[in-house]
Amino acid sequence: MRKLILIASLIIIYSSVGVNANQNYNNPSHYSNNDSVAIVYFIKEITPENVLKIYKAIGVDFKGKTGVKIHFGEDGNKNFLNPLLTKPLMEYTGASWVETNVLYVGKRRFTDTHIALAKKHGFTFSPIDILDSEGEIDINTENMGFKHFKRVKIGSKFDNYDNFIIYSHFKGHGSAGFGGAIKNLAMGFASPGGKMAQHASEVPMLSNKEKCNKCSNCIKNCPADALFFDSDSVIMINPDKCIGCAKCIAECPKKIITPSNNRPQTNVFLERLVEYAYVFHNRRPMTYINVLANISSSCDCSARAPLPFTQDIGILASNDIVAIEQASHDLVAKGHNCDDAFLKESGVSGLGQIIYAEELKMGTRKYILVEIK
Ligand code: SF4
Ligand code: SF4
Repeated sequence: MRKLILIASLIIIYSSVGVNANQNYNNPSHYSNNDSVAIVYFIKEITPENVLKIYKAIGVDFKGKTGVKIHFGEDGNKNFLNPLLTKPLMEYTGASWVETNVLYVGKRRFTDTHIALAKKHGFTFSPIDILDSEGEIDINTENMGFKHFKRVKIGSKFDNYDNFIIYSHFKGHGSAGFGGAIKNLAMGFASPGGKMAQHASEVPMLSNKEKCNKCSNCIKNCPADALFFDSDSVIMINPDKCIGCAKCIAECPKKIITPSNNRPQTNVFLERLVEYAYVFHNRRPMTYINVLANISSSCDCSARAPLPFTQDIGILASNDIVAIEQASHDLVAKGHNCDDAFLKESGVSGLGQIIYAEELKMGTRKYILVEIK
């Protein structure tokens, strides 16, 4: 009976919203309509088979050259998603995993060591393409109605692809509140220069310095050598060196390092992320899969991300990037018995990402969650 109700609701949703993914992909604005209600599919059990099943449920059957945007996990990170989860999807689509090099010092800074780390983490059964390995291209965004950027810098090999599956680990992030599909696009396709432009103003604050236990965690994990003890052994940040990566925020056991611009829903950094995401979202057809597992307050760029603060929730998929982020956020909040789990855990709300993305008409916050059994 339950199965019958689900099938019936699927039919009703399809007819009322008029989803036909293949038609819509000719013009991104058609599937990013603020006035509509988007469908977000949900499967509770996180398995490789269900990742493929939910991709098929979206109704997209990408042809041509497909990239699966993924995060290979920082060296030492334990929370990144198991690569085997993507195996049936990679085999079915014949896609490559795509990524870009990062801004900070470490194995993911350069193409050869980045690919070697990915393989060490188990990403061995599909091709890997680092999209900025041959440089970057500049895109003029002056006619896009942005608040912040007139130009953006992206990995030049982005344009070699016909379409993308944005496969994101939905979890916390020190500066962005959470990292999901929007952040995976924004930082994940930007060249290091583009990443720097997005981070530019985010030098963290140091408060209650008397609580510092001199553990040096922040200094050891700063990729820009920006933290130091002054001559009185007081912890300091050199703003000229800081690249705003937020790693130190996650590393401080005393929580005395905090984001500089903690204004829920109006954060400049969040808006910058969204503007970058907008450029990619409108440049190629894309569909979105969020995996809600290993949800800690820190991202997969952190070598020592903390343990998850809530239980695994499931897999979500949608053709609407705003809807899938809102649904993911809502499910994590519900699982953590609050309105904003990331605000509760790290003091940073990421809701501004979703709100600004809707303002830019990337999609809608109104969604219907369709559970697939
Ligand atoms: S945010 Fe913190 S860890 Fe990152 S560069 Fe600045 S001081 Fe270093
Ligand atoms: S991580 Fe925190 S407690 Fe440790 S040295 Fe840095 S500021 Fe002090």
